Amino acid sequence: MTAAQWMACCELQRVEALALLREVAGLSHATLLAHPDALLGADVAARLQEAALRLHAGEPLAYVLGWREFFGLRFAVSPAVLVPRPETELLVEFALQRIAPQGRARILDLGTGSGAIALAVAHERAHAEVWAVDASEDALAVAAQNARALLPPHRAGGALRLLAGDWFAALPPHPPRFDIILSNPPYVAKGDVHLEMLQHEPQLALVGAAGGDGLADIRRIVAAAPAHLAEGGWLAMEHGYDQAQAVRAMLCAAGLTAVGTQPDLAGIPRMTFGQRPVEGR
Ligand code: GLN
Repeated sequence: MTAAQWMACCELQRVEALALLREVAGLSHATLLAHPDALLGADVAARLQEAALRLHAGEPLAYVLGWREFFGLRFAVSPAVLVPRPETELLVEFALQRIAPQGRARILDLGTGSGAIALAVAHERAHAEVWAVDASEDALAVAAQNARALLPPHRAGGALRLLAGDWFAALPPHPPRFDIILSNPPYVAKGDVHLEMLQHEPQLALVGAAGGDGLADIRRIVAAAPAHLAEGGWLAMEHGYDQAQAVRAMLCAAGLTAVGTQPDLAGIPRMTFGQRPVEGR
């Protein structure tokens, strides 16, 4: 079978078919355009077929390939972690805007999953001290793998700390205060119709352990955050399309100021932030 023949009958979206040909068959888009009649060996054809079946069954391309690009970096992913989404780059940009290139800020990422947010910040800010928490040991193993691949060795073992546990409870006794706390927590309501499309991804990352209205984990994070923020420190969280107002109200009630929301590239209110006031100002 030729590559063109496989493309014509695989019943995949073009981008997915091209991604499989590139990753599984080693055929770049340019090669395919120049040689659409490149022959696929039996072994390659079988592996393409197996990958196509997984996609037909609704598995995200990122799990089939084993990686997804986020903030220009290649993150290994497995079904133990949520596939990093482009809108989550808002949280990385938020942090980078508040840390000078050589700045020594201390950052906490709650619910790190593959480590996407924490490692993107660590990668861009060589002197930041980055802590990352997740309730799932399997997710932390993926984050650790990504840390080894993306950060220089001395940082992967030092200035980056991966901690297992339940939000702030994962921190050691007498933790330091953080300049920026970032989180893409579970925020999908239990029973939300979108969950059907997301069935291959970890429910713990989407809905959380408590379930409910989709705001339970955000509520817990906001309630505990001020006690963990340095004066003038920021909390920024990703949330659902209809949750911005509720999240802003929580941040105000928790005593944070400069509260605001930023839209994602689709124009959906996607990230809400607030600042711990500086005392005596
Ligand atoms: N943005 C994800 C989705 O709905 C949800 C991520 C999350 O719950 N943190 O596809």
